[in-house]
Amino acid sequence: MCLGIYIHVPFCVSRCSCCHFVTHRWSPRLAERYADAVRSEISMAAGHVDRKRTVDSIYFGGGTPSLLRTGLVSRTLAAIGRWFDIADGCEVSIEANPETITREKAESYLRLGINRVSVGVQSFVEDELRGVGRRHSAGQAKECISVLRRAGFLNINLDLMLGLPGQTRRRWKHTVETAMRIAPSHVSVYMLDIDDPKARLHREVRSGQCVLPDDDLIADLYAESIEWLSGAGLLQYEISNFADPGRECRHNLKYWTCRPVLGFGVSSHSFDGAARIANVSSLQDYLRSVEAGRSPEETRTHLDARQALEETLFLGLRLNRGVDLNELKARDGKGILAEFESVLDEMSRRGLVENVGRTVRLTGRGRLLANEVFSSLLR
Ligand code: SF4
Repeated sequence: MCLGIYIHVPFCVSRCSCCHFVTHRWSPRLAERYADAVRSEISMAAGHVDRKRTVDSIYFGGGTPSLLRTGLVSRTLAAIGRWFDIADGCEVSIEANPETITREKAESYLRLGINRVSVGVQSFVEDELRGVGRRHSAGQAKECISVLRRAGFLNINLDLMLGLPGQTRRRWKHTVETAMRIAPSHVSVYMLDIDDPKARLHREVRSGQCVLPDDDLIADLYAESIEWLSGAGLLQYEISNFADPGRECRHNLKYWTCRPVLGFGVSSHSFDGAARIANVSSLQDYLRSVEAGRSPEETRTHLDARQALEETLFLGLRLNRGVDLNELKARDGKGILAEFESVLDEMSRRGLVENVGRTVRLTGRGRLLANEVFSSLLR
């Protein structure tokens, strides 16, 4: 089974008010040191395996990976190539913020074998961008996409954010329609999530300084977005993701189908097929460990049969194609599936999931209330 590799790049020039990711203030010197550490971690993790494993997806996520000078991206890819076989046609993605992309950088990315760029657009409305402290304008987002296209990129994702402060139906429609005019091969629609107190917006909303659109409006806009995007040929394949047929993100599909992905870098997560492994989330602890030749692993959780089934179900349900219960039954030597089937029957009575033959999947309403479905499956 081919592996995916994730590289976490934890740097941003400034922190958006909605951010709950592990990210630090951009420093070119620290980035050099960090990239060296990531390369050491790759060789530590892969060096003791006697057979090179094949990788068919590589993903640079962050943070803002496009801040890295291309020499560092190139050296990281070379380290991966030294320890792994990179499959022909490997999907190589990088996340980019619009203000960081230049013609030279886009052309270098292509030369390095990067074939997919995920652009953090979030909105095409200036007020909304300013409201959460984004550093780019709507015009810069459009220019970034033109630069990528002129350089030769065919596979471009636009990240859009639903539920931003001040968002109205008219504004959101403008954002989605602008995205559709640009006609990317992939769009991700994420719901603003400010549950984490680390996000400045969390405090601003709690103190009444900032007002978010209400949940009913967001639910309506989400449902409408599915129609608008599918009308433009971007078919929903996962709760938040839409693609031209054949342009679904291979790397992210590995997470939803429980395929092995090795994560490198601070706070990255891996799944090796049997255990979930998390790296330390402090940048200083990460650098100290790797520079001393120690693994930066913080936790390792071996999945028992029930946990493995549970994960296959709730991650697979994120996909529009759903989960094949016959396949799960074939893997279920302990009769655990029956427990989940009774929960799914209850969800089906409530109109949140549906069965098509032996495949179970979320309904439209189920996608809106997905967290409720998932938590009912977790013990
Ligand atoms: S660009 Fe992304 S990772 Fe960086 S601060 Fe903003 S939301 Fe966080």
